[in-house]
Amino acid sequence: MVPEKVLAAVRTGPERTEFREFDMPKIADDSALLKVEVAGICGTDVKFYSKPPINDPVIMGHENIGIIAKAGKTFTQRRGLKEGDRVFVEHYVGCMTCEHCHRGDYRLCMATDWRKNPDGIRFGYTPMTRAPHLWGGFAQYMYLPWNSVVHKVPDGLSPELAGLVTPMANGIQWALFDCNVGYQSKLLVQGPGQQGLSQVVTAKQAGAELIIVTGTNKDAKRLEVAKALGADFTINVEEEDPVERLREITGGEGVDVALDCTAGAGVAPLLLGLEALKRKGGTLLVQQETAEFPNFPLGKLCNKYVTIKCARGHNYQSCEQALQQLNSDRLSLDLMTTHRFGLEQTHEAIKAVGASGDAIHVSLMPWM
Ligand SMILES: [Zn+2]
Ligand SMILES: [Zn+2]
Repeated sequence: MVPEKVLAAVRTGPERTEFREFDMPKIADDSALLKVEVAGICGTDVKFYSKPPINDPVIMGHENIGIIAKAGKTFTQRRGLKEGDRVFVEHYVGCMTCEHCHRGDYRLCMATDWRKNPDGIRFGYTPMTRAPHLWGGFAQYMYLPWNSVVHKVPDGLSPELAGLVTPMANGIQWALFDCNVGYQSKLLVQGPGQQGLSQVVTAKQAGAELIIVTGTNKDAKRLEVAKALGADFTINVEEEDPVERLREITGGEGVDVALDCTAGAGVAPLLLGLEALKRKGGTLLVQQETAEFPNFPLGKLCNKYVTIKCARGHNYQSCEQALQQLNSDRLSLDLMTTHRFGLEQTHEAIKAVGASGDAIHVSLMPWM
């Protein structure tokens, strides 16, 4: 039996969380209710907690693992699932009719692009004022509409480890699918947070020959974990000249792929990435945190025949493969699940991700 009320942590302003009780929503034949076990917290949460992109109150939490507590018949039939199954819910809620949705690229669907479409629905981003209100994982329960995208969590995989699925799926998507990292690739990963480390894991699994990870003074522990997960070299850019060091490591040849996972370190990682790429034909993965780049060195980019790829979440297949990766024992991925908090510590949990120190992946566990 599910309770009549649901407790949720609501972001009501910059750095402000208030706890609200909601009525348990009615579950239609084509929808379901998720009992949230783990809501992962990432750099985007840190950014939007301090500077909310909208004024309306929001239940945050967009990397959600839980149990299907209640489901309509159509919902379960369409997905081959039943009540009691453990699932990962993508935060994209697509239209299910456009070309992107048909390909499993819900991330590119306009129906879930909250930046461009004010009516767009996305878990962790949609205002709580919109019925039936439970649109985020920082809550005991979450509402799953007819067009939510769920993946069954493999048996034997713990909810906390499964909570790594979002960064891991991004690793598969960005490094392997978008930048074609594979056997004998050489790559530079800038930033050893959960996102950068997931690129290391997937590149290593794919057979990359050289993995170099950069960080700063606050990343000592994270750089150690990078090594444990397969990085060949780490560089502290505050202690060493990274350009010089990269030249040394690669014998002046450079790398095939440079990925920016620094979550907003400005233009420096883009310049370093461009510098680190091999003489002709490398691939540079960029994020939109650096929204503007005056005097972008387009000449150098063109001369080196560089391809730019934009980090844009994950597709259906990368999520499926990430769950399989997490369920294998090949790498000690529990090195990444460092911190856990209860629902009443939502504020502290988000702050822990933003703080310098040892936090890699932080789990909010509403029932802890
Ligand atoms: Zn995220
Ligand atoms: Zn669509």
